[in-house]
Amino acid sequence: MKISEILKTKATLSFEVFPPKQNAENITSIYHTIDELSKLHPDFISVTYGAGGSTKGKTVEIASKIKNDYHIEAVAHMTCITSQKEEVKNICTQLKHHHIENILALRGDEPKDHIIDKTTLDFQYAKDLHQYISQEFPNTFCLSGACYPEVHQEAACFEDDLKALKEKVDAGAEYLITQIFFDNQYYYRLVKAARNLGIQVPIIAGIMPVTNSKSLLHTAKMCGCSIPYQLSTMIESYYRYPNAMKEIGINYATHQIIDLITNGVDGIHIYTMNKPEIAQAIFGSIPTVLKELNHE
Ligand code: FAD
Repeated sequence: MKISEILKTKATLSFEVFPPKQNAENITSIYHTIDELSKLHPDFISVTYGAGGSTKGKTVEIASKIKNDYHIEAVAHMTCITSQKEEVKNICTQLKHHHIENILALRGDEPKDHIIDKTTLDFQYAKDLHQYISQEFPNTFCLSGACYPEVHQEAACFEDDLKALKEKVDAGAEYLITQIFFDNQYYYRLVKAARNLGIQVPIIAGIMPVTNSKSLLHTAKMCGCSIPYQLSTMIESYYRYPNAMKEIGINYATHQIIDLITNGVDGIHIYTMNKPEIAQAIFGSIPTVLKELNHE
């Protein structure tokens, strides 16, 4: 089923997982993660795409298991900046073969180890990937795109980033998933500005429960998101105590989710970091609020 169809009826609850680095033990560990996540009955699980990396080929395999063995809708991430049209066509053909109907179509980050000649690229922006897939595989996939409450790091300003987002939606993105944010006000600002610009598709909030101080700082830097004063004082006080940091991360994310649901969010997407126990802790602490999201 296409996620856009689900979003017509309710706000969604979903998870992101990533393919582990390839060795036999790690690969089986992802299925333990999905086993546990499936017990929470998500509307979909998305699988990241390691552009150029060793895990690249695993996205289709894991998405296929989610869809065909666990019977949960799967969203396959796909990046394009270093890809050629034939490669994209080949992956889309595999996805279609495995009955996967949903793609999160991304540009990906520019490689750090070499400079790319942008004039030779088949795809410069994510919107080019949206256009290509829509043309080559009409009515086959539900395409979604990424958006950035605190502005994408390469964009000159919020307005420019928003105009680019509108082009992406016009090129075929049927819903959007946000980058991580720790201050919900950035999400509300994005939604309001997007609606004012005529972007009407659902905007799902991406929430990452960060459970240790090192990964919080790393994630914030990598994703270009700010750490609110309140959260930074908690980290300052408790960074030496792993269990306390875990409790803080889970509670902080839970509080964000309650606030988002209260304000009518289109969906919640939890970046699980392949740690199902974190998602379980959140679900366990607010089962009734989450039912509210689904209007049960
Ligand atoms: P785009 O939409 O192409 O935007 C990239 C930049 O170009 C922005 O600054 C935008 O403002 C600008 N831009 C766009 N169009 C134009 C235009 N016409 N003219 C001028 N400027 C323009 N990365 C991975 O490698 N694998 C993953 O699985 C993955 N999953 C992700 C999931 C989510 C929900 C998010 C939010 C990000 C994910 N990323 C992933 C990271 C993503 O690939 C990077 O953030 C990347 O730098 C941008 O991708 P994009 O699709 O948003 O690009």
